[in-house]
Amino acid sequence: MTELDLAPPGPGEALVRLHASGVCHSDLNAIDGTAATRCPAVLGHEGAGVVEQVGAGVSLAPGARVVLSWLPACGRCEECLRGLGHLCATAWEGMASGGLLDGMPRLSRDGEPVHHYSFLSTFAERAVVPAACCIPIPDGVPFEIAALAGCAVATGTGAVWRTAGVRPGDRVAVIGCGGVGMSALLGAVAVGAQPVVAVDVSEPKLAAAQQLGATHAVAWAGTAEATAELVVEASAGGVDCAIEATGRAEAALAAFLSTRARGAAVLVGIPAADATITLPALPIPRLERRILGSIYGSSRPGRDFPALLELYRRGRLPIDRLVSRRLPLDAVEDAFAAMRGGDALRVVLDLGGTT
Ligand SMILES: [Zn+2]
Ligand SMILES: [Zn+2]
Repeated sequence: MTELDLAPPGPGEALVRLHASGVCHSDLNAIDGTAATRCPAVLGHEGAGVVEQVGAGVSLAPGARVVLSWLPACGRCEECLRGLGHLCATAWEGMASGGLLDGMPRLSRDGEPVHHYSFLSTFAERAVVPAACCIPIPDGVPFEIAALAGCAVATGTGAVWRTAGVRPGDRVAVIGCGGVGMSALLGAVAVGAQPVVAVDVSEPKLAAAQQLGATHAVAWAGTAEATAELVVEASAGGVDCAIEATGRAEAALAAFLSTRARGAAVLVGIPAADATITLPALPIPRLERRILGSIYGSSRPGRDFPALLELYRRGRLPIDRLVSRRLPLDAVEDAFAAMRGGDALRVVLDLGGTT
């Protein structure tokens, strides 16, 4: 572990003592260079903790337990005014800078700037973040559960509920059963989708998916076409919504080929910047089959995170079942190894913190 300097929170910012952070595929993409990231940086963007100190103009009270959103919507840009805060132009631009909303990092080492990752940098004991990232946690919800709501669970459930608008009785397939895919599966089960078909290359993940409510498990059959055929068979004619949660072009094609008339492939996984997908064109107009993009589950953190955590508390959304392993902060490399291994759902870093 490395000691860094952290500036105190400025106006509109909060200092958070982190307690838990999930380890997400996007962190791995930053390490592997799949996604361009300003370096050096502290990774991690799925965290929860306690507010220790706030800057001017912040209404949060020190001591507040919060889950962190990695997208502080400005509320003023064109996308925000259209009700699309998850596509906020200001926040996305700020994120690329590796700083906070003014583009400047608050982290440094020996006077040299160290960049933030998605405004948060939760692989740490403390973080200074825009106060708009801080969403209060309902009483009785553990930090590790709240942390997962901040990325994987919001992304997966939101793709099903918000982006696709899945309704009871709709047929759903989920391709890629990691943290995000499994969250989509939980969302589909919670809303009463039927059947819910899980697709993955990993047998342990398929077994876990069935324990979480998948009605069918389909092992990846080597090609998009062969896999989609199995999904169409399992769903008696194709699904209304096929969630793609791997970022792979083959999986996106499989999702599209798994849909029925008016069905939608919902692309959630983040592909490489130069990736392309090729689809059969005729079914798009002829059968109104669609492709939908979904980022952060099209969610509004202030509205959706408390709702997700309330569902958890009432036993309707078993987020705890996604936690496959807990590790201390200095074992973060083991978390990435587990992720590369392909059988882990979500590894959570316990960041300590007793306040
Ligand atoms: Zn993430
Ligand atoms: Zn905005």
